[in-house]
Amino acid sequence: MNAATMRRVLDTIAEMFPDARCELNHSNPFELLIAVILSAQCTDETVNKVTATLFKKYRTPEDYLSVTQEELENDIRRIGLYRNKAANIRKMCAILLEKHGGKVPEDWEELVRLPGVGRKTANVVVSNAFGVPAIAVDTHVERVAKRLGIAGPDASPLDVERRLMKLVPRGEWTMTHHRLIFFGRYHCKAKNPACDVCPLIDLCKEGKARMKGTVRGKKDEKARKEAHLTK
Ligand code: SF4
Repeated sequence: MNAATMRRVLDTIAEMFPDARCELNHSNPFELLIAVILSAQCTDETVNKVTATLFKKYRTPEDYLSVTQEELENDIRRIGLYRNKAANIRKMCAILLEKHGGKVPEDWEELVRLPGVGRKTANVVVSNAFGVPAIAVDTHVERVAKRLGIAGPDASPLDVERRLMKLVPRGEWTMTHHRLIFFGRYHCKAKNPACDVCPLIDLCKEGKARMKGTVRGKKDEKARKEAHLTK
């Protein structure tokens, strides 16, 4: 994709989702960090339900360390991988107290050293909590970038991030991250993308193929293979 086409994508998603934003509820960098750690393989909606009560009980790193591992697990058990996440949160809180005066570091390199914090989480935190431009690539951003041909079908999340950083002006990185997520979450959905009303279909091979009925779902593909084997 060239810069002019990318500009059209950016302007279109800006028109569709002018108010795109981080949908994880939080009121400070620490809460955001906890919410993003909890959100791995889990919907923002579920995380928000859990944090609505969690953030009343736990306000500081000390609070997470003042309870047992089991108690924290119990408080977040509606969230997938809650045992691992509880362990990582407690280890992360201990390091915040030990090395960072109980505060979330603003430095990206320091953030990714924390347990449970990967590249995507660090990007979300620096961009939303500290105003540093970053493009976090989650499942929606990756899918949309691949469908629109911004990145190749086999690109890793890091490849997608690099491609977007090259094509999108730096000052628009954070907002583009939010808008691509909204575009993927509410329009170009994983199972039923709204190709029939998509303003970008003329530049989307995937959309054109879907409208012609030549893109099969996984189920169709499995059925086709099984039919072939029983012939
Ligand atoms: Fe997504 Fe379909 Fe639009 Fe392509 S045409 S971006 S697949 S909704």
